[in-house]
Amino acid sequence: MEQLIVLTGPVSAAKTETGIALVTRISRQKSPSGERLMNIAHFRPKESQRSEEKIGEVTVSKSGMKVCCTYIDSIDDIELHIDDEIDGIWLDEIHFWEKGESTPVVFEKVQELRKRGKLVIVSGIGADVKCDPICTSFGFLLQTADKIEHLLADCDWCGKLYSASRNVYIGGDMYQQGVKLGGYESFRPACIDCYNEVIDLSSHEKILHLSNNF
Ligand SMILES: [Zn+2]
Repeated sequence: MEQLIVLTGPVSAAKTETGIALVTRISRQKSPSGERLMNIAHFRPKESQRSEEKIGEVTVSKSGMKVCCTYIDSIDDIELHIDDEIDGIWLDEIHFWEKGESTPVVFEKVQELRKRGKLVIVSGIGADVKCDPICTSFGFLLQTADKIEHLLADCDWCGKLYSASRNVYIGGDMYQQGVKLGGYESFRPACIDCYNEVIDLSSHEKILHLSNNF
């Protein structure tokens, strides 16, 4: 069974940048005769497509790094785009493929791919703003990974560097919030102290007031 690498963390934790750097490094490996050793295919859920990514099939990280990818509706659609020439697969924003699913469909596909000899990299957010799991597969993936990188962001509320492990949803009914498309305009990274302080404020206006201080 091939290796599984998991990248996780809150919004603005550079998960996509880390994935792009990892895939770029793996793809650069060459045999003594100059032949590329690993061909990596990159997939993202159609639903996660950010507006700046709408032109072409490209993943754009928040810092502007780009890599070619294929946007698919269902995790099983991977099979339409891979063959024996593909050695590895990077699945980003995996939680979008499991909306409404009661079974860990992403984990099952990852296991199948690994058994077929494909290296798999997965990245995404494992919990919502209430710290409830939003993707059943994440627990299974973490337990079976060869490498896990939990990335931290800078806390947007107190300013501490690399302290944020949670997201705070800005605006709307945050307690009704499930999986939602959005980046910095919708979510802000928070350290555990600020998360608890902000999440304790049940008033939507107070949240907006806090967010407007930035
Ligand atoms: Zn903080």
